[in-house]
Amino acid sequence: MLLKTHFSIGLLVFAILITKSISIPFLGTLAVPTVAATIFYLFGLMVPDIDSPHSKISRHSPFAHHITSIFSKHRGIVHSFTTGILAMFVMAVILSKLNWNLMLAGWFFIGYAVHLLTDALTPHGVRPFWPFSHHTFRGPITTGSFSEKVISVIAYSAGMILFVQSYTNLI
Ligand SMILES: [Zn+2]
Repeated sequence: MLLKTHFSIGLLVFAILITKSISIPFLGTLAVPTVAATIFYLFGLMVPDIDSPHSKISRHSPFAHHITSIFSKHRGIVHSFTTGILAMFVMAVILSKLNWNLMLAGWFFIGYAVHLLTDALTPHGVRPFWPFSHHTFRGPITTGSFSEKVISVIAYSAGMILFVQSYTNLI
């Protein structure tokens, strides 16, 4: 999926989540996101495409791309919950050393999971349970297609409406 589609669907999920309180074991409760939480969420949303040579994050950081391309094929290792959970774990350890809120790692993982679920809509699909299962979850939406644009616009519009509503309720 294109980066803007990840952002549109990401916005919709974010708008739904900011009114909920969800508990994640060991990390705490997902509260109304702070600026830091939003940054961690966006980072999680973008980072799986670091393994794509054409992604924005790889283009802007060839070094980061070089590192991941050593051990991953496009959408291979990085597009799995396994890697997302490991990254969340490492992040939580660093956050606890810094005495920061551990839920930041939770927000990162939610962003990561939303990215994987969105890519599961494409024919290329994802292997979320690598290396335990090589089953690929895929869908009919080709990247860059008209249907992707429709989904993106609907998710963005719904996200904006919900976001404005939730924001108005919060103040
Ligand atoms: Zn992706």
